[in-house]
Amino acid sequence: MDALTFHEGRHFLQIPGPTNVPDRVLRAINKPTIDHRGPEFASLTLSVLSRLKKVFNTTGPVVMFPSSGTGAWEAALVNTLSAGDRVLMYETGQFAQLWRGVAERLGLDVEWIEGDWRHGVDPAKIAERLSADPEGSIGAVAVVHNETSTGVASNIAGVRQAMNEAGHPALLMVDTISSLASMDYRHDEWGVDVTVAGSQKGLMLPPGLGFNALSDKALQASASANLRRSYWDWKPFIEANKNGFFPYTPATNLLFGLSEALDILMEEGLEAVFSRHARLARATRGALSAWRLENLAVMPAEYSNSLTAVVMPEGHDADKLRRVILERFDMSLGAGLGKVKGKIFRIGHLGHFNDLMLMGALCGVEMGLKLAGVPHKEGGASAAMRFLAEQG
Ligand SMILES: *Cc1c(COP(=O)(O)O)cnc(C)c1O
Repeated sequence: MDALTFHEGRHFLQIPGPTNVPDRVLRAINKPTIDHRGPEFASLTLSVLSRLKKVFNTTGPVVMFPSSGTGAWEAALVNTLSAGDRVLMYETGQFAQLWRGVAERLGLDVEWIEGDWRHGVDPAKIAERLSADPEGSIGAVAVVHNETSTGVASNIAGVRQAMNEAGHPALLMVDTISSLASMDYRHDEWGVDVTVAGSQKGLMLPPGLGFNALSDKALQASASANLRRSYWDWKPFIEANKNGFFPYTPATNLLFGLSEALDILMEEGLEAVFSRHARLARATRGALSAWRLENLAVMPAEYSNSLTAVVMPEGHDADKLRRVILERFDMSLGAGLGKVKGKIFRIGHLGHFNDLMLMGALCGVEMGLKLAGVPHKEGGASAAMRFLAEQG
């Protein structure tokens, strides 16, 4: 059998993004494209933007690009910084590392705090670096809220507090690509200056939209920042968005989908969305303990509610296990990226997802562990079933 063998029924897309797209969203996208300079489009944009602010927990502007998350990373940097500026970044995992690469290629001077890919951002280390910079040469602190390569979530309010205590004027930029609309996130309250997000994870859309939420301070910085920018420039967006338009052709059909996805999120209520994710994540971790498999995340306070990264027993290849599960059960699990390639696999449990979808995923993992000969104790899926039945 190979991965292309015919499978009947639904594919299980259990990677931590792109996530499952609800049928309602697919149907919304599947409408005829409209004139992006006409009145119907303008009211769509205005309604999407006002609801989107609630998801970021901000009253400030949110800019939407027809891009993947990487474009939104670049936009955050080029709009606020100048050539040679220093940026303090933290090695939480692969995505932090990729963002670092973007910053370096743009000519920024990255100060890198090393990490072990099992812990989140330590606010004390941020405070230490900022205190050693009394002349304020660090222009921004840029961190990943939910490190999708490791399943570790960082304390963003704690990072802001450390910056305030150090009395440092740097901007705070946060990647929420795999946490927004799955885990509690507060742009205004946590004092974030630029929040970076993407469409294909908690927002339950296909890939193709990138977002920046901005503080007043970020907007002020953009007036004097001298990095070259054209496509990513916030200013023409903010101007055109006031009337519901865009400076260039927007991803019209993805905006139809976004409008529907925001309806779905508001119908459930964001608090309920977060508790659903927390509950499904706990059930997943219960399965891991019963299997006697280790969570890559070490600190319970940093466990991600969007995904769980599972450490393979010594000498067993995660990619082989994933291949067996794909071929036999038509389920895609997240691969180990970068440093942890082959050593872990990731179970995505975010977005459009419920108890029975989780049980399907966990049963697939448990059967796969057995088929691939990975040492484990049986009963992880049963443990999750018990938890879900008891914790209504
Ligand atoms: C998925 C993800 C990205 C990658 O964005 P692209 O859409 O692939 O450009 C960046 N950061 C985090 C934390 C992610 O989860």
